[in-house]
Amino acid sequence: MQTEKLFKRLNDSLTSLLSDGSGSFFCDCGNPLCSETIELTTEDLQLLHSLAGYFAILPGYEIPDTEQIVPARPQFSIVKKH
Ligand SMILES: [Zn+2]
Repeated sequence: MQTEKLFKRLNDSLTSLLSDGSGSFFCDCGNPLCSETIELTTEDLQLLHSLAGYFAILPGYEIPDTEQIVPARPQFSIVKKH
């Protein structure tokens, strides 16, 4: 859980740096060694992070045992932590 919180903070910082409304954000998956990035708009990210327990990850990086997958866009998936 700490990893996701860290990446969430990093992404939130990135959001404030971006001015064109879209960009690359760190994958929020549960792998602490993962440094993949995902493409999504700042608006999408902010909406997602306003919902408790939801994270944006690279498709295929889900952990089905602990996460419910919500298919989103080809570029990323959304998971809800149980
Ligand atoms: Zn990842």
